[in-house]
Amino acid sequence: MNSTVVTFPDGHVSGRSEIVGAVPAGGRHGLVVAETPFHPLDHTWPDQPADRGTIGGLPVADCVTGAQSGTGEIFLGPDIPVRRGTEGWAWLVVHVAETPLPVGSEVALEVDPGHRAALSAGHTACHLAALALNAALAGHWRKPAALDGLGHPDFDQSAITSSRISPFGSEDVYRLGKSLRKKGFSAEGLDLSQVASEVNDRLKAWVAADAAVWLDVPGPGLTARRTWHCALPEGETSIPCGGTHVRGTAELGVVTVELALEDAALTMRTTSSCL
Ligand SMILES: [Zn+2]
Repeated sequence: MNSTVVTFPDGHVSGRSEIVGAVPAGGRHGLVVAETPFHPLDHTWPDQPADRGTIGGLPVADCVTGAQSGTGEIFLGPDIPVRRGTEGWAWLVVHVAETPLPVGSEVALEVDPGHRAALSAGHTACHLAALALNAALAGHWRKPAALDGLGHPDFDQSAITSSRISPFGSEDVYRLGKSLRKKGFSAEGLDLSQVASEVNDRLKAWVAADAAVWLDVPGPGLTARRTWHCALPEGETSIPCGGTHVRGTAELGVVTVELALEDAALTMRTTSSCL
């Protein structure tokens, strides 16, 4: 099989395509088409959940990443033994259905647009919150660190251990351990409510500015190295990203974060009201 052509980076939620393969998916049926609007869960960095919707009129129970090796073996989700985009593998969007559909038939693919829009809002809010957190924590670095696109030490990329997008929100977990201390970050005197209020003020200004958001899409395949861009008042910034997003920050309504510190892990919960 060839790598699946994906249209979700351009915001598509429907399409028609031919079923080019069927793979067993834990007692259910994994259907692969040539081109799909469905965003699958990524196996390397599973931040944005799978789209919901239908394939050939059947409910898509799950949508996962598949990878086919040069010898033809197909692996799904966490069983994939190589990293996203590894050369020599075909990268597949696998639509999981309860009922099989014949290979070679042409089917309609329909993504639930409301669920997609909610996840896009959650994902854009997640990136903005990360940038605002980097800015609010800039004074805690004792050594020069890698900088984000706005010129602040990149706390987010230095400390993140997991990111989970949900409808209109996200939860990001950061480890404040020894390795981060070695990189030069000091949690001494960290005032969580002060940091949260600085983050929230910045988010409010960014939403008010209705900054344009877009993706740079270097190729049609699932694992093309796409980049999220946002034209913030402080400057245009970018973050590597495989997910989906809103078109402008004003679509997010009120974006706020809550911070919690527990066992050397900082958790940031971000919500977007999408007014
Ligand atoms: Zn992203």
